[in-house]
Amino acid sequence: MDYDYEVLIIGAGLSGLAAGIRLAHFGRRVCILEKQVRAGGLNSWYPFQGRILDVGLHAVTNYVPRSVKSAPLARILRQLRLSHDDLRLCPQRISRIIFPEKELSFTNDFQLLVQEIADKFPSQVDGFLKLTSSLADYGELSSPGREVVSARKVLKQFLSDPLLIEMLLCPIMFYGNCREDDMDFVQFSILFRSIFTEGFARPKLGMRQVIQLLVDKYQESGGELRYGCQVHKLIIHQGRVAEVHLANGRIMQAKVIISTVGLPETRLLCSFWPAEAKEPKPGEISFVESILMLDCLPSQSLGFETTILFYNDTEHFVYRKPNGLINSLSGVICCPNNYQEDEQMSTEGLVRLTHLANFDLWSRLDQDEYRRQKEHCLRESVEKAERFIRGLGRHIVACDTFTPRTIQRFTARQKGAVYGTPDKLADGRTAIKNLYVCGTDQGLVGIVGALLSGITVANRWVLYGA
Ligand SMILES: Cc1cc2nc3c(=O)[nH]c(=O)nc-3n(C[C@H](O)[C@H](O)[C@H](O)COP(=O)(O)OP(=O)(O)OC[C@H]3O[C@@H](n4cnc5c(N)ncnc54)[C@H](O)[C@@H]3O)c2cc1C
Repeated sequence: MDYDYEVLIIGAGLSGLAAGIRLAHFGRRVCILEKQVRAGGLNSWYPFQGRILDVGLHAVTNYVPRSVKSAPLARILRQLRLSHDDLRLCPQRISRIIFPEKELSFTNDFQLLVQEIADKFPSQVDGFLKLTSSLADYGELSSPGREVVSARKVLKQFLSDPLLIEMLLCPIMFYGNCREDDMDFVQFSILFRSIFTEGFARPKLGMRQVIQLLVDKYQESGGELRYGCQVHKLIIHQGRVAEVHLANGRIMQAKVIISTVGLPETRLLCSFWPAEAKEPKPGEISFVESILMLDCLPSQSLGFETTILFYNDTEHFVYRKPNGLINSLSGVICCPNNYQEDEQMSTEGLVRLTHLANFDLWSRLDQDEYRRQKEHCLRESVEKAERFIRGLGRHIVACDTFTPRTIQRFTARQKGAVYGTPDKLADGRTAIKNLYVCGTDQGLVGIVGALLSGITVANRWVLYGA
């Protein structure tokens, strides 16, 4: 059969770009179809009142220095033929987890967290060290048919203090858990390593530079990228994707289709789904985030030196769709200026405030009420953050707030579910023979996770695989 391309990739987010780079490097005829006018997906950038803002960037997780060659970051760079210097990563200074009774600090040096636990939870430190040596790894995530094991249950086998369990779960859930209340232990392990054992960094010039680097790499290797090109329907014939219908009326054909738009979203694109295959449900976890631009740098003028602060005001950390529009009893405060080296080049302060949010409630509001509630939510967030950053509200010169509704509108993720469906496809294979899913719904979340997922699916199913 004479195909237009060997591989069509739906979506130029980080997983789509990584898959594309691998395939283009090996001379495969590949085209990425992106509905937006720029690449990057959930972690892209946008112009705002004369500035360039990152859509969501708090941190690139999995940070290791250049000399560490065996970590996921180093493996990704090798596979994409990039150097550590290309990303211009600035490591974090210090991050904190603050609960009513206790506080833990951590940096990219794991020993600090071990010391903090020894000081504040002396009876737990042995269990904590045993836990860290029992963590699962990336390989286990992609083994098909594996059972999901409750992270809470496993944690209880190692730790007897419920407060420490909640404090460890707080950043890990905020940065990658698609399930309510509990999470998959393998996912926990991967996120634990990426946040605590390895650590946080920020690309010096934000995501725009990283995305441009990936797009250039892809196009220089011969890959094609079409913007403003929305896939409207995948026509299934005899168990395979026979045609890809675009919203502009064009029809394309390819031997293999890789979708990065999410599993439930990909299912909706398919003209047919086998009755015996599970119907994937969208996730429920979404967020509201306010990006505040300040007339001063938080560490110099407001005494706030923390890179990322995770707080929780209740006895038990509640990670689920809130009953109201947002849940400000817990949240994340990220200060991009507080990465090492960033401050010398910043002229404006930046603070990002994030809370769990309820998509269903946000989606019911009419336009006026939606605007009012966004303002209300901003005030509530700032009030909460002022406990940690005194005088924050007085220094805001501009701000932008996004809600689950914004996420759904721009990325097509149903319910604005940033971390996708709980029905993950471990190895990327779907019920349709030549259709694979990569990115968030393969189970690898975040920037590094999405890149790794794109590489894995391209390698396994196109370059070396079936
Ligand atoms: C607000 C926010 C903050 C975040 N912060 C961080 C962070 O600090 N650190 C971190 O590591 N991770 C963070 N993440 C998570 C991270 O951004 C994602 O896990 C990752 O970018 C997902 O990449 P992806 O390629 O799987 O999917 P996506 O980025 O969703 O890419 C899918 C692409 O497909 C396109 N598309 C959708 N439908 C169609 C269609 N029908 N036709 C054509 N194209 C289509 C979309 O426009 C998009 O470009 C954040 C996410 C959000 C939303």
